[in-house]
Amino acid sequence: MASSTLFLNQPIYDYLCSVSVRESELFSALRKETAQLEMAVMQITPEQGQFMTLLTRLIGARRAIEIGTFTGYSALSITIGLPDDGKLIACDISDEWTRIGKPYWQQAGQADKIDLRLAPALKTLDDLLSSGQAEAFDLAFIDADKVNYLNYYERCFRLLRPGGLIMVDNVLWGGSVVDETNQNPDTCAIREFNQFVHQDARVEISLVPIGDGLTLVRKKA
Ligand code: CA
Repeated sequence: MASSTLFLNQPIYDYLCSVSVRESELFSALRKETAQLEMAVMQITPEQGQFMTLLTRLIGARRAIEIGTFTGYSALSITIGLPDDGKLIACDISDEWTRIGKPYWQQAGQADKIDLRLAPALKTLDDLLSSGQAEAFDLAFIDADKVNYLNYYERCFRLLRPGGLIMVDNVLWGGSVVDETNQNPDTCAIREFNQFVHQDARVEISLVPIGDGLTLVRKKA
């Protein structure tokens, strides 16, 4: 929901990007192509993409799941942090959007790592669980329909190994989480998720105010 990190004024945001973002031409081209779409705000910011690549490498992730791929910028950010034999299962329901990302995945040499599943993500996650893949993943990124956040979270929790990391996007939702007059179902679902994860003793957490707010959740070992 943000085209820059929330609440930073423009000069500070520009400065932050100028001394930290190392976006390649390919990533930049995908971001620019996506920016022409009506739903462009669904794209993660470049500083967030780079942060996610770093986290992927830091935890030594090999197997990852993404829920909500859109045009594939976040998928690319995760896969470049995976080793050559790493895999990302990318869940989305839109062929129209994910199709935009595919040539970029190809050009970046990452297409073989991305297993795109065009289906409701709850079904994909349930299929993974029922085929014995519990605790088989290192990393999950949740960035799809907000009303299902808790459903995605519970399934990802089971799919992750102890010590694995879940990254949950849009947890500040443009700041609307603190506007009590806003009772939109998405906003309410995000508030409910935030409260739940705050109390969840199975995990360690940190809400990082990057992009539109990204909660990092580590499954306790
Ligand atoms: Ca998002």
